[in-house]
Amino acid sequence: MVGLVRWLFDRDDRNGDPATQRERMVEKLRTRRRIKRESTADALEAVPRHEFVPEDRRDSAYVDRPLPIGAGQTISAPHMVAVMTDLLELETGDRVLEIGTGCGYHAAVTAEIVGPGNVYSVEFVEELADSAQDRFERLGYEIHVRVGDGWEGWPDEAPFDAAYLTCAAPEIPPPVVEQLKKGGRIVGPIGNGRQELIRAFKRDDGLERERHGGVRFVPLQRAE
Ligand code: SAH
Repeated sequence: MVGLVRWLFDRDDRNGDPATQRERMVEKLRTRRRIKRESTADALEAVPRHEFVPEDRRDSAYVDRPLPIGAGQTISAPHMVAVMTDLLELETGDRVLEIGTGCGYHAAVTAEIVGPGNVYSVEFVEELADSAQDRFERLGYEIHVRVGDGWEGWPDEAPFDAAYLTCAAPEIPPPVVEQLKKGGRIVGPIGNGRQELIRAFKRDDGLERERHGGVRFVPLQRAE
């Protein structure tokens, strides 16, 4: 029943070709004040989200909801990607670390802003990393992917201007903070059970944190 009501409510989001659906999605996010920066709007309008979601979910690619991507993981709703992208205050040329590649959608949005070769993404589940990598190649995104535990960041490619987590960690991972430049930003869901979206700036005397409301993400997995 809830499913049917949702389907009816979102019905209009499924009409038209992907580009038209995308434009409408961005327009709605703007109206709901989920997008503040022009660069974020442009990026969301550029990335073909329908190419990142499972084939049987393509008709819902531009509905503002999370979607399953396999391996028990989910892709965040577009508004969450928009909010996190705004908070990172990205500029062209920034080097960015992503923890949790998933299907690669969020990384592609980031890459639209910072440019080719500047996004470094770590994914725990090999099968997801492999299919994201294939997708990036097919769609022409130059994004670096590594299989591993994102808690450790990507030391060989540090330092980064910005970093974000797409899975919830009990605290901001200290190795990732270490790999940020001074003035660098980190955004992500923090907490066990109850999670909050946190943005922190790396300052001379430590992290300056801000809270950006309650959220729900899949937990960050650790190797045993
Ligand atoms: N940004 C993704 C969202 C994926 S959901 C997208 O746009 O699709 C979160 C992802 O974090 C999952 O793919 C999950 O496998 C991954 N993950 C969980 N723990 C991790 C860890 N320790 N290191 C790296 N990735 C992890």
